[in-house]
Amino acid sequence: MSKSADQTVKAIVLAAGHGTRMGTEIPKQYLMLGGYEVLYYSLKAFEESPVDEIVLVTGADEVSWCREQIVEKYGFSKVRKIIAGGKERCDSVYRGLLAAAPCGYVLIHDGARPLISREIIRDVLKGTTEFGNCTTGMPVKDTIKIADRDDMAADTPDRKSLWAIHTPQGFAYPLILEAHEKFREGDFQIPVTDDTMLVEIFLRQKTKLVKGSYENIKVTTPEDMELARIFLKKRGSFAERG
Ligand code: C5P
Repeated sequence: MSKSADQTVKAIVLAAGHGTRMGTEIPKQYLMLGGYEVLYYSLKAFEESPVDEIVLVTGADEVSWCREQIVEKYGFSKVRKIIAGGKERCDSVYRGLLAAAPCGYVLIHDGARPLISREIIRDVLKGTTEFGNCTTGMPVKDTIKIADRDDMAADTPDRKSLWAIHTPQGFAYPLILEAHEKFREGDFQIPVTDDTMLVEIFLRQKTKLVKGSYENIKVTTPEDMELARIFLKKRGSFAERG
């Protein structure tokens, strides 16, 4: 029996960024990591998960390359749409949300986090269906300081209440769509670094936190690539090809 739209779960995988901190010409999500592109690992994890469909969001010039060189090449049959993202991450998410309609729940994931796992997807999905919104992350291990404009440490929040937030983040579809639309209606000059913050600010709702893994890093700098290589190798999901 086919699912009704309000039971459907879709993943939005973001790969439209052109971060400069990696120092490479090729965007980090397309760099090779153990014989596969960084992006491959996230798509593979969702392909093998209970998620019904995947919307892949890439740079405008990368849509056909991604279709041929990633989606078709590796046979990711759950990727039903490949669309161009926007200027900021939140613009790419919004386009992904529009492309994902109709659906019941969405899991939003950074394609630059190749260490996503089956367990993390399962736990975030469970939290999402139970609470309406849920994110993976991990309690911080370092002491965190609030710095002032002169780089002087001015305050020390209680570490017990601090988490580093990762993706995937899951939401009931109408909830996250409304949060993004409220954000877009105003001219808010706030840096939007994840999607749960829009739900906090514009809908005044808390998000369920579930522990994922300290290995679920976002590859941002060359050191992150080295770490990701070690973690993937340990898992055995590493093709010794490159
Ligand atoms: O820039 P940052 O590392 O925070 O990007 C997180 C994720 O969002 C990456 O997977 C990146 O490709 C994606 N992104 C996007 N569209 C943008 C900026 C970032 O899809 N305009």
